Amino acid sequence: MTGPHTAPEGADRVIVIGAGIAGLAAAARLAQAGLSVTVLERHSTPGGKMRTLPSPAGPVDAGPTVLTMRPVFDDLFTALAERLEDHVTLHRQSLLARHFWPDGSRLDLHDDPALNETALAAFAGPKAAKQFRAFSTRARQLFEAFDAPIMQAPAPSLGKLTLHCLT
Ligand SMILES: Cc1cc2nc3c(=O)[nH]c(=O)nc-3n(C[C@H](O)[C@H](O)[C@H](O)COP(=O)(O)OP(=O)(O)OC[C@H]3O[C@@H](n4cnc5c(N)ncnc54)[C@H](O)[C@@H]3O)c2cc1C
Repeated sequence: MTGPHTAPEGADRVIVIGAGIAGLAAAARLAQAGLSVTVLERHSTPGGKMRTLPSPAGPVDAGPTVLTMRPVFDDLFTALAERLEDHVTLHRQSLLARHFWPDGSRLDLHDDPALNETALAAFAGPKAAKQFRAFSTRARQLFEAFDAPIMQAPAPSLGKLTLHCLT
């Protein structure tokens, strides 16, 4: 049986195309499983969308800035018999995003849904705060429906998603 992190029976060499986070994670798991792994990358540096670009003000992160699903990285490092915290120092942020508009108005979003509603109400009124609450509830429902059968599953399954939604 094969999946994203297993090789066909008898194979001992694997080529992973792309040194973005997905390719690197797959390569690390396959190497840990004892396979000889070669990663091919068309750019001169690894990282894919995780990249830094030069600017007159200094280097700027042009891709991801927020680690939103730490358990995924914990799981990866555990699979490699390592600990994430031995390699990177992570600081939990309560302020997730700060938005600015040309007229000087500003909207901060936090890791606390109640604080977000208060911020939305102050920024755009009670109706917007209510809409944001409905949006957050819907987003949570979608995340919970898709997490196990699609995002965490080695082989995403519409059948399991349907079953999950029915139960
Ligand atoms: C502006 C921006 C902000 C983001 N912010 C966040 C965030 O805050 N938090 C978060 O979790 N996610 C964020 N994301 C999403 C996250 O960056 C991506 O989901 C993730 O980096 C994708 O990784 P990947 O390995 O799947 O693909 P990629 O990073 O695209 O890697 C694919 C790699 O494969 C290489 N490649 C492709 N074809 C070939 C080929 N034929 N031969 C050789 N090499 C090849 C490419 O050069 C590339 O290096 C953001 C994305 C962007 C663009």
